[in-house]
Amino acid sequence: MELDVLNAVLKPKSIAVIGASATPGKIGYTVVDNLVTSQYEGAVYPINPGASEILGFKAYPSILEVPGEVDMAVFTIPAKLVLNAIEECGKKGVKGLVVITSGFGEVGKTDLEREMVEIAHRYGMRILGPNIVGVLSNSMKMNASFAPTLPLPGKGALVSQSGALLIAIDMSTFTRRVGFDKLVSIGNMSDIEFADLIEWFDQDDDTTSISLYIEGLKNGRKFMEVSQKATKPIIALKSGVSAHGAAAAASHTGSLAGAAKVYGAAFEQAGVIQASDLNNLFDRSLALSLQPPMNGENLLIITNGGGVGVLATDAAERYGIPLKFAPEDVQAELKKHMPEFGSAKNPADLTGQASAEWYENSVRNSFAHPWVDGLTVLYCEVAVTDPMDVAVGIKRAIDESGVKGKPLTVSFVGGEKTEAAMQWLVEQGIPAYDDPDSAVNAMAALREYALMREHDATFTKADTSSAKEKAMKIIAAARADGRDALTEIEAKKVFEAYGLPVPKCDLAATEAEAIQMANTIGYPIVMKIVSPEILHKSDAGGVKVNIKNAEECRQAFNTIMENARNYNPAANLHGVVIQEMAPWGTEVILGSINDPTFGPTVMFGLGGIFVEVLKDVTFRVAPISEKRANVMVNEIKSAPILKGVRGEEPKDRAALAKTIANYSNMVFDLIDEVSESDANPVIVYEEGQGVSVVDARMILKK
Ligand code: ADP
Ligand code: MG
Repeated sequence: MELDVLNAVLKPKSIAVIGASATPGKIGYTVVDNLVTSQYEGAVYPINPGASEILGFKAYPSILEVPGEVDMAVFTIPAKLVLNAIEECGKKGVKGLVVITSGFGEVGKTDLEREMVEIAHRYGMRILGPNIVGVLSNSMKMNASFAPTLPLPGKGALVSQSGALLIAIDMSTFTRRVGFDKLVSIGNMSDIEFADLIEWFDQDDDTTSISLYIEGLKNGRKFMEVSQKATKPIIALKSGVSAHGAAAAASHTGSLAGAAKVYGAAFEQAGVIQASDLNNLFDRSLALSLQPPMNGENLLIITNGGGVGVLATDAAERYGIPLKFAPEDVQAELKKHMPEFGSAKNPADLTGQASAEWYENSVRNSFAHPWVDGLTVLYCEVAVTDPMDVAVGIKRAIDESGVKGKPLTVSFVGGEKTEAAMQWLVEQGIPAYDDPDSAVNAMAALREYALMREHDATFTKADTSSAKEKAMKIIAAARADGRDALTEIEAKKVFEAYGLPVPKCDLAATEAEAIQMANTIGYPIVMKIVSPEILHKSDAGGVKVNIKNAEECRQAFNTIMENARNYNPAANLHGVVIQEMAPWGTEVILGSINDPTFGPTVMFGLGGIFVEVLKDVTFRVAPISEKRANVMVNEIKSAPILKGVRGEEPKDRAALAKTIANYSNMVFDLIDEVSESDANPVIVYEEGQGVSVVDARMILKK
């Protein structure tokens, strides 16, 4: 039903332009003119109280006077007139509103914007905008915008949060040879947001891929869930990473987060492919709109130049699809189409003597080979071979190979003839790039897409209701005590309820109690101050490790209490926690934040300088499965330390992943109560030996 309503703005049968004008230069003129120029086939109704005819269409003083049905109304009138006109649209039975008009939320008039949406929803109408360029669709022959022209036709759709950028992208589709079927300006997203458009494009037969230029999402989780369900590739370019980072930077984990990392995590979880910049968005969109995913890791490169071959080899490694030598039989086939001094390994170098025929034959023979999961063909313009002949040869070879479901990308480097050959290739559905790096990066996007389709669900949540019940009791007790932080002991009880392994511990209020508990737990022990006011216990001289006997225990108790008193005379000292001393191992940290866009989010990294100096941490939006937690464990830069380097035994990454997943469940469950938490450090042991969460911190929401 929702999708039907969106048809009104993406596939309208009739369009009213509210504020249509007969005066060239006005937006109300441009929109009508664009509908004419783009040869829109539906009915067009200019609405203007002062005109009887605009650009050959009969004009009406009000939408209420239009005789036929109106699917979509485009607004080009000033903001102050919009509410009234929307009311009229509702009465008329219009379904979708494209509000080009600006002067709403972007200038602080959020009330006006909200009111506009309320009226529209009262009549079951949806709003695209306000503050947008409009909607452009080649398949609908509809330029319902003030952008100069429909984009170069292509198969993907692109949504831009920036209007100016949308127009620039529109124009550059021609020079870049990267077409789109649809361009949608999304503006303030007062109503229709990215998630709505993704859902609609996913069921639209004229769309093969979905490209997004995102400045900020309104509902991050909805975006993730819709993207994860989509059956078409989604490519996103996210900008504005620094401002968001500042907003979240209040906490320690927050300061390590920054939008780039959290958005990156969210995109990975949602199966959204990322673009690094505008060029990359075009490159990747082209490949994903035209080619199938790369369902294996073997990339074959065929070239006539060693230089571009090496550049592509470097790129393949950089983008995560490193080249491997082709198997003997593939090499033997390739050898037939190159001179003696050529190389059939990978890249297969047909040499500068390569004819169009050699290209054609080597492509035909190798593309069908089961070892080849993807093929990138490179060509440097040389006097002996016409680039168009090479292009035609490649296309014929691909067609005749009969292979379906394997991707091909191409890079031709040269002059005008080369440009023309590439244009032809793109028209044939083969993504062609003027830089080998781009052709390989595009292939990497197809590989990323294949891998993302294998991932498990975005969010995986175990049943933790009994853990949550226990946690809520502990939290309620702390609150009743007038506190907004749990003590380490309380936090560890919550952690334990969620299956996180914590060392045995107990609170000692007196020296005598301390010694008695130490005897029960068994030496060596660790002793730490317990005070809601002292969150960083070492800073207060409040931690003593490796206490070996009763005498040391007695001394430590008194020293810790004294240090704490000196550190913060106002602090309320509950006593000293006596705990099992965990053996030495590799220290890692877990943390959580409540991200403004995505909500509960977990962080993982190695402890010490890895987190403080190198900021080598990774994020996921909670809750996550063990499998996804395992991806986190393996994706930090210092992951080799956990895998076991220089003769060290590999660490228990499975137990660590389980701990992260459990932690993520906890963070998700308690998001309304806990503003941030961390487990710093968690000690990780050798494979099979598990982990130990030796410190736990939990700050409650005020
Ligand atoms: P804080 O972070 O508040 O200063 P911690 O509880 O993290 O206090 O203790 C400081 C350090 O002492 C930890 O980083 C860890 O190296 C060590 N430590 C703390 N508890 C234990 C324990 N139970 N077993 C082994 N080492 C511990
Ligand atoms: Mg600590």
